[in-house]
Amino acid sequence: MSDTSIQKHEKVFAAPKVDAQGRENLIGLSKDELIELLMQYQVPGFRAKQVWHWIYQRGVKSFDEMGNIPKDMKAFLNDRFSIGRPTVETEQRSTDGTIKWLLKLNDGQMVETVFIPEKDRGTLCVSSQIGCTLTCKFCHTGTQPLVRNLGAHEILQQIMHARDVLDEWPSSGAKDGGRDFTNIVMMGMGEPLYNYSNVAKALKICMDGDGLSISKRRITLSTSGVVPMIQKCGEELNVNLAISLHATNDNLRSEIMPINKKYPLDELMQACRDYPLDPRRRITFEYVMLKGVNDTDDDAHNLATLIGNIPAKINLIPFNDWPGSGFECSDMERIEAFAKILRDKGLDSPVRKTRGDDILAACGQLKSASKKIINKK
Ligand code: SAH
Ligand code: SF4
Repeated sequence: MSDTSIQKHEKVFAAPKVDAQGRENLIGLSKDELIELLMQYQVPGFRAKQVWHWIYQRGVKSFDEMGNIPKDMKAFLNDRFSIGRPTVETEQRSTDGTIKWLLKLNDGQMVETVFIPEKDRGTLCVSSQIGCTLTCKFCHTGTQPLVRNLGAHEILQQIMHARDVLDEWPSSGAKDGGRDFTNIVMMGMGEPLYNYSNVAKALKICMDGDGLSISKRRITLSTSGVVPMIQKCGEELNVNLAISLHATNDNLRSEIMPINKKYPLDELMQACRDYPLDPRRRITFEYVMLKGVNDTDDDAHNLATLIGNIPAKINLIPFNDWPGSGFECSDMERIEAFAKILRDKGLDSPVRKTRGDDILAACGQLKSASKKIINKK
């Protein structure tokens, strides 16, 4: 897909902008867009800046809470616009502390967001689309046809919702050092680079010091390998990049990840070599361990060769099974032997712990839960 056809694709699957009452959500507009929009209604620029501050720094959910905005202006804003959050359809808490929310959007669509606490950090796994147009064979999300893209506001709302629940807005006294929620990974449902405009808009507000103020070093975008957009992402956002690699030759990769037919491995690896990396930053390669498919010693050697001298970390992900997948997870001894080959070649290759498995919140399991709940109705 070319740059322009990705833009067309984004339009076809666009998110609705207004809620059931016809009110436009202000979340997701850049500061300049917000100023310009409100200016059309004679709201002066300094007021728009105050509104922005209340939304992103204080985390308020209604105009009524905006202390320094005049009463009649609040009433006007309330009439035309909203800054609300999606409703929480379900919240599930795993025994390991992982929390998974199924959030209901304005048009009734559901999206999943997962918070994964660890000793030294807390990571929010954010979705970019409802479903996915790509059909990676091992991924449950890939069996759900794309319903639509998420709007920038819906991507931000997942993050703002987590701040609400964890009570980590600066106004609640949460300090940088004392926060539970520190990192964002765009690794939920969907392919973020097939919804690039909305993802970029949302992440720019995340990274803005006057916005959600989350450093680009703490944000990772994962892609199945949409080569033309990787470069754009590097130039415009320069967040950490994760590549879902999963195979070391074109035959196997095209079989399990059809996007490889469009963007084969040599183009993908070139895009990785060209990605702008600050000193000490690395590209993460995700590699799902599939028994008898991609887990031999030879595969490990080929993986090391493929990565070459790209500054890299390889996340070995035990395959999370789902009904009818047709795959099995490699045995633990096999995964360890695979990891050892990589480590002996000087490659950092942790085996990713499966988190939130008991609530179907692990990688590649995200579709199942929402389907189940939707089916219950
Ligand atoms: N579409 C993007 C973002 C989703 S990230 C991408 O593919 O990168 C989700 C990660 O989980 C990806 O690395 C994906 O390959 C991996 N994954 C998908 N299904 C999985 C499964 N069943 N078990 C383990 N990992 C899986
Ligand atoms: Fe889509 Fe990523 Fe799943 Fe592939 S692995 S189907 S790109 S969500």
